[in-house]
Amino acid sequence: MSTSNPPPKDAADRKAVAPVICYPTQSLPRPDLMAYRALRAAAKPSEAVLVPPREAATFCVPRGGFFRISSIEGPQVGDLNLWNTHDLSERFYSGKTRALHGTHLTTGDRMWSAFPHLRPLATVIEDTLDWYGIDEFGGSVHDVIGTRCDPYTHALLSEGDLYHHCCHSNLTRALADRLNVPLLEAEAHVHDVLNVFMCTGFTRDTGQYFMKASPVRPGDYLEFFAETDLLGALSACPGGDCSAQHSSDVAECFPLLVEIFTSDPAALANWHSPLDSPYDGSHGR
Ligand SMILES: [Zn+2]
Repeated sequence: MSTSNPPPKDAADRKAVAPVICYPTQSLPRPDLMAYRALRAAAKPSEAVLVPPREAATFCVPRGGFFRISSIEGPQVGDLNLWNTHDLSERFYSGKTRALHGTHLTTGDRMWSAFPHLRPLATVIEDTLDWYGIDEFGGSVHDVIGTRCDPYTHALLSEGDLYHHCCHSNLTRALADRLNVPLLEAEAHVHDVLNVFMCTGFTRDTGQYFMKASPVRPGDYLEFFAETDLLGALSACPGGDCSAQHSSDVAECFPLLVEIFTSDPAALANWHSPLDSPYDGSHGR
């Protein structure tokens, strides 16, 4: 960051103003974690999907069910996309989720959907890495700040090098296969991710996005409640644990496991999917 303007006389006073939280969330509907955990205790495993290293896989979770993303063979981060199964235009909105819950998600936080819906698609019910908190560098786990590694940025920064197993491309191929559509059509649905297990932050001195070796170990998992019928796609990032580099075949990479659990419809009798935001969509006209 270079500056070309001298500070005004009252610069120190201006900088000393205390910050205000942009989105106080006291009025945000809180998830009933006790009820979710009771449902989870009765849920039955229905499917397990293995995500190979440097590839992505898709999966479906019925509303009222659960999905668990696990580290199984070694430290590995995953890039997660979520859609409403019945309307792919309702997809995870990383930016607004960040504004509501902060830069990293943990238990009780939710993955919100795009406008005009703005409702929870999934709620984190268990995070075995919640002990990590925020480290001395300002780093934390499961970020909604880092978009996803992609071949366009890589080519821009590496004089045109073509790498085809960035998370963006992995998600695109996996979704194209799932929907049986051309790559370009699938690519339009791929969006900014939840970086599962990734340890990231912004440097305090330059404000730059950083990553560091993920603290995840085999056995760790992040588990979600499906607030509506979900289509998910998860990429096992070519960065592996993201301790050194991504967008290459250099890092050691491991698979990730996605397990789906379904609830008995009778157990969901008194529960309904969250409603869209109450905004009427008229935009003043
Ligand atoms: Zn990646």
